[in-house]
Amino acid sequence: MRKVYLDYSATTPLSKTVLAEMMPYFTEQFGNANSMHAFGQQGAYAVDGARRKIAELLKVKPTEIYFTSGGTEADNWALKGGANAYKDKGKHIITSKIEHAAILSSAAQLEQQGYKVTYLPCDEKGIIRPQYLEAAITDDTSIVSIMMANNEIGTVQPIKELAEIAHRHGAIFHTDAVQAMGSIPVDIADLGVDMLSFSGHKFYGPKGIGVLYIKGGIKPDKLIAGGHQERTRRGGTTNVPAVVGLSKALEEALDGLDANYNHIKGLRDYFVQEVEKNIGYVIYNGHREHRLPQNANFAFEFIEGESLLLTLDLNGIACSSGSACSSGSLEPSHVLLATGLPIEKAHGSIRFSFGKDTSKEDVDYVLQNLISAVGRLRAMSPLYSEFIGGKQ
Ligand code: PLP
Repeated sequence: MRKVYLDYSATTPLSKTVLAEMMPYFTEQFGNANSMHAFGQQGAYAVDGARRKIAELLKVKPTEIYFTSGGTEADNWALKGGANAYKDKGKHIITSKIEHAAILSSAAQLEQQGYKVTYLPCDEKGIIRPQYLEAAITDDTSIVSIMMANNEIGTVQPIKELAEIAHRHGAIFHTDAVQAMGSIPVDIADLGVDMLSFSGHKFYGPKGIGVLYIKGGIKPDKLIAGGHQERTRRGGTTNVPAVVGLSKALEEALDGLDANYNHIKGLRDYFVQEVEKNIGYVIYNGHREHRLPQNANFAFEFIEGESLLLTLDLNGIACSSGSACSSGSLEPSHVLLATGLPIEKAHGSIRFSFGKDTSKEDVDYVLQNLISAVGRLRAMSPLYSEFIGGKQ
């Protein structure tokens, strides 16, 4: 049976050249990057090199790059550390209803500690319009955190305008760029953000490693207390192989950005066109233009997303209902509900996310299976027969 992976937004396979670059740091060059001896210095040298390479690729300073254990930690650090450090300005935080759980759960914890949090809405296409921020921001707002691109529906937000509004009101601005980095151009200076999170495993790098970019002069409180690593701002023995892997993966992702963008978007657009042509009662969730190239998210009316997901899985096709982090829960997606999609349609939604290894043959195989699976599931659906009966 053919196997087709269309869940690249959940994670990507590690690039073989990235793995090769990482290998020596697991075995021969295993030193602790904080040790004074030659073994340690080899590690420290590798980490310095990786930090400089990342900074150069992103056109920022090496001292503005902080390694974390992933996107989740970077998000926690930015929001909690930022809120604590700048609480003298005010204890009001603004984020959005469609953020990843890493931000939403951090915001909920801050609420328990007495912070006031405003969750901005999005429009029906998933865009957080600048006027929503303008209406919510006050003199007490210390930090605004809005994701660059949504993990479920791929909507790309007007970050530059949002950051400008935050700054006009004296607040700092963080963006979760975990889904955007490596997929679309991310120009940190042009966006004007103060902090930005990203994660290695979304662009063919290793899992368990991420970066929080912190602009010079911005000083969020520490999240992980410990040793003097990361210029004393984040404790914990540096994961040298992962740091090396992340920098190599970022280099590969940015070198191949245009080619991968065109390949992935071409296949995604073809897939969307064929789904809309061949399957009735389907809603393309999200925005048609302001969207990540890899993302297609559909609500198939009258069926359960989970049943469709399992049917496709039996045919070797991997995709996702909701995001990977919320799968396992039967709650409808908070993102789709925020766009105004009714619960029953949110339940019938599936995310397909494409990658650089996806081929046209893969997409045709998925289309063929998807069209027949939706047909079969609707044939068994009482809701669908009621609907069709009502029309006759
Ligand atoms: N933020 C977004 C938008 C994500 O999609 C993810 C992962 O899916 C994360 C944060 C968490 O990143 P990590 O898996 O590196 O902890």
